[in-house]
Amino acid sequence: MNADPAAQRRLLELAEVDAELARTAHRRRSLPELAELEQAEKDLRTSRDALVTTETAASDLDRDIGKLEAEIDQVRARENRDRGLLDSGSISSGKQLEDLQHELATLHRRQTILEDDLLEIMERREALDADLERGRARLLQVEQQRADAARRRDEALADLESTEARRLAERGTLLGQLPQELVALYERIRTQRGTGAALLRQRRCGACRLELDRTAIRRLLDAAPEEVLRCEECGVMLVRTAESGLAGGSGQ
Ligand SMILES: [Zn+2]
Repeated sequence: MNADPAAQRRLLELAEVDAELARTAHRRRSLPELAELEQAEKDLRTSRDALVTTETAASDLDRDIGKLEAEIDQVRARENRDRGLLDSGSISSGKQLEDLQHELATLHRRQTILEDDLLEIMERREALDADLERGRARLLQVEQQRADAARRRDEALADLESTEARRLAERGTLLGQLPQELVALYERIRTQRGTGAALLRQRRCGACRLELDRTAIRRLLDAAPEEVLRCEECGVMLVRTAESGLAGGSGQ
């Protein structure tokens, strides 16, 4: 294939635009902000779960406290009733009096045990208050971290999008200026190799970096400037400029 050497050189601009578009696409997939956001979301789930666990433990203890308090009230009412009975002097039977005093002693012991239990549970419940406070503070902090990570990700994506939009516009302009046939070949090679065209610089292919041997250089020297050349190693179009290192003046 033949193409105007100036058009061939413009392919290098197109290749540069495409390389940046490829880098942008790669950055979009591997943004550190994505990993940060994922971690923040994981932390958020962990903090929420931990808080729910503490809240559940606290409400379990609240229920236990309620039950104990009700039980203590019942025992106290019973004690009051028995004491009232005892103080009324209406019981004359020695056996009945003895039973009543025995029951009062039992109720008193029962009440002491219940009150000790209540105290112990209330202490545990109080300790949970501190845990709840810490858990809520931690949740707020993690929510903030997640929001920050999401904002940084959005900013990074917006940057990439504006780079892409700019480069795609440049690409459109370049494509409009290049011969269709040349563009078709470039696109075919780019699809297969990732790069469509590269500069031949200091006798090396700009895509695969292979240094051309004497035979290949001879062939390049003999080729007309219009001839579209390909790297024998990697297949991309080789564009000749003054930097190509082709002594003898046939390079452009
Ligand atoms: Zn090559």
